[in-house]
Amino acid sequence: MWSYHPDLLARPVPRYTSYPTAMEFSDDVGADAYARALDAVEAATPISLYVHIPFCEQICWYCGCNTGAAGRKHRLADYLAALQSEIRLVAKRLGGRGRVQRIAFGGGSPNAIAPVELVRLLDLLLTLFDAHRPEISIELDPRGFSAEWALVLAAARVTRVSLGVQTFAPHIQQAIGRIQPLSHIERVVAGLRLRDIDAINFDLMYGLPGQTLADLDETLDETIHLAPSRISLFGYAHLPNMIPAPAPDRRQRSARP
Ligand code: SF4
Repeated sequence: MWSYHPDLLARPVPRYTSYPTAMEFSDDVGADAYARALDAVEAATPISLYVHIPFCEQICWYCGCNTGAAGRKHRLADYLAALQSEIRLVAKRLGGRGRVQRIAFGGGSPNAIAPVELVRLLDLLLTLFDAHRPEISIELDPRGFSAEWALVLAAARVTRVSLGVQTFAPHIQQAIGRIQPLSHIERVVAGLRLRDIDAINFDLMYGLPGQTLADLDETLDETIHLAPSRISLFGYAHLPNMIPAPAPDRRQRSARP
């Protein structure tokens, strides 16, 4: 049974999708603070690794994430090379201390890289860190999902997947520049379950442009029908001054064929 805390719900808090939350970061948090935190890790300290892939095949018009279009392949390759250097640096600084219990790939959309690149990153992490059968999770853009991805995730022992579903209403998908029909999401879920990946989260959104309560109800009904193991329901924050929408030409480039 879930506990209900109305006092906590009434308190204004920052958008909470990661910890520490974005508001905790400032110029005071830099390389020195990072090094001190790494040096404080002891031999048996349980640690989690988060690997950020700040790219997406298509940029959604409502997106406020730290991401960019994956179209420029050299930029993606440069980032992956830098990421591998960072993994080596962190592992060297830890010098074998810490027990990795969780590895999370987030973004952006980690499936904006090629499946083989995910395997390379995991190989490196599992080779350089003390990690015995860690729980591995990944965020996926359903639009870029394929049977190859399902195979690779299963082979890599990924156990938890989070799908960016947002809404099933076709007219809202059109309004936010994210077309992914219900039948496609059904295929993605079936493809994951076929490979025994059952811990599936749906990210959903409310307050999207033109979205009515009836649209949200319908999306929730379809979601219940697909029975993900977890639902994360986020409110859309309309902040055009802070997060300008992609320019029209970028929209066209990023539109699905
Ligand atoms: S897939 Fe997710 S991270 Fe990428 S642009 Fe869309 S909302 Fe943003």
